[in-house]
Amino acid sequence: MSVNKENYFRIQEQLLAHKATLVAVSKKKTAADIRELFEMGHRDFGENYVQELVEKHSECPSKVRWHFIGHLQSNKVKTILPMVHLIHGVDSVKLLAEINKQAKTAGVVAECLLQVHIANEETKFGFSETEVEALMLFPELSEMNNVLIRGLMGMASLTDNTAQIKKEFTGLKNLFDNCRLMALEPRAFNTLSMGMSSDYELALECGSNMVRIGSAIFGERT
Ligand SMILES: *Cc1c(COP(=O)(O)O)cnc(C)c1O
Repeated sequence: MSVNKENYFRIQEQLLAHKATLVAVSKKKTAADIRELFEMGHRDFGENYVQELVEKHSECPSKVRWHFIGHLQSNKVKTILPMVHLIHGVDSVKLLAEINKQAKTAGVVAECLLQVHIANEETKFGFSETEVEALMLFPELSEMNNVLIRGLMGMASLTDNTAQIKKEFTGLKNLFDNCRLMALEPRAFNTLSMGMSSDYELALECGSNMVRIGSAIFGERT
């Protein structure tokens, strides 16, 4: 297993035109794989599982910016908080409140993205569009001084139907623009995390500025 350099450089070039950031998704890949990409100058890596993050955090250079992109349980917030740069998968008010509480104790501000359910599949986590809009105006949010909402994250349906994917991404971009108008700190609300190996080009076309790409860079996961 190693980094597909050709794909990596091609993707980075595509992202440049959109001023988008690449989160290299390293779940199920080794610390050696991460270090290989790190040595090429890459800093942003995405992990889905708490245990893997904890291990790789201790094995990889401290300058890695870790993105937690998986489903986060409230009882794991305390563990990952000191390690992560950005939490992509905030999918409930309860989780957000716990992140705020633990960040307050640690004396930090935790940067978060709200995960929105845009796919037509039942299984994916996330807020509905109306829930996100309601949350942006939620009075208690202004009292959560130890979380900073940097934007939204979403995953499109797993389908070959590009029209469907495009519709979902466009919907998320529109929601992002609306939420930005409501954000307590609109300038900080600037990150739209959407797009993976199979659909990142569509996501960029639809206004993504952060893509999460695993298999196209590190190869298929087993
Ligand atoms: C695994 C994963 C990715 C990356 O998927 P690839 O298809 O390997 O690019 C992106 N986002 C999330 C939330 C993931 O779980």
